[in-house]
Amino acid sequence: MFSSSYLDRNILCVDSLNVEELPMGCKTRLLVGLVHDGLGRAMRIPVIAVRGARPGPVFGITAALHGNELNGIPVVHRLIDSISPETLRGTLVAVPVLNIPGLVRHEREFRDSTDLNHIMPGVADGNESQVYAYRLTSRVVGAFNYLADLHTASFGRINTLYVRADLDEPTTARMAMLQRPTIILHNPPRDHTLRGWASAEGAPAITIEIGDPHVFQPKKVRRTLSGLRALLTQMKMLPRRAHPTPPPPVLCEASRWIYTDRGGLLRVNPELGELVE
Ligand SMILES: [Zn+2]
Repeated sequence: MFSSSYLDRNILCVDSLNVEELPMGCKTRLLVGLVHDGLGRAMRIPVIAVRGARPGPVFGITAALHGNELNGIPVVHRLIDSISPETLRGTLVAVPVLNIPGLVRHEREFRDSTDLNHIMPGVADGNESQVYAYRLTSRVVGAFNYLADLHTASFGRINTLYVRADLDEPTTARMAMLQRPTIILHNPPRDHTLRGWASAEGAPAITIEIGDPHVFQPKKVRRTLSGLRALLTQMKMLPRRAHPTPPPPVLCEASRWIYTDRGGLLRVNPELGELVE
């Protein structure tokens, strides 16, 4: 059983996520201890786990690994609110905010200016951000059999709703198609991303890029939620029910940046998501 104490009546403080210890047929709110700050105060990340009444896979949904990327947070909360543990097969684990210092500071990076999605799975005895990343992976994300990691565009950029996935890998290709975004980008995971690490550990993983940073965009949040519900239904984790089916996604084999060697203001003529020759 849990060796840790209760912070309050509803939230359990633990040192790591252990799905097998969670009660079946319940939603459990946890705070998982990661590091301590300069005053010795514990930094714990919130985790909401719904362990279904029937056994099955552990599906993890994570958001705000970049602290200024907000759209994934309401997706996580609304998905958890809508799920009934009695009808769930397996366990859904939601982490609304992976990068707590970044969220508090409205910044993409961790508080030592490190991009956490470039250093996964961290280092057990490394510097502050490396230790934080190591404990995120070893104490939380390592418990997942599947991962959907929710992001947005970076600061100063805009995105459609698109999915990054390795389309050469049948499971991740299927996860991406079921999400039914506007665009799917074939993108074998790079080393040191959370998606790359999870995939290498045997947990098929996709990255969902939900629009723009620093804002909440209700339409894109709703569409992401709908895609995740369709995905979980196809995996037989949720009971079958009708889902809206958006138009089929555009499949991109690769992406690249276009640079200019001139200064001045740039005017971009195509609309976001528009097909160009
Ligand atoms: Zn991001």
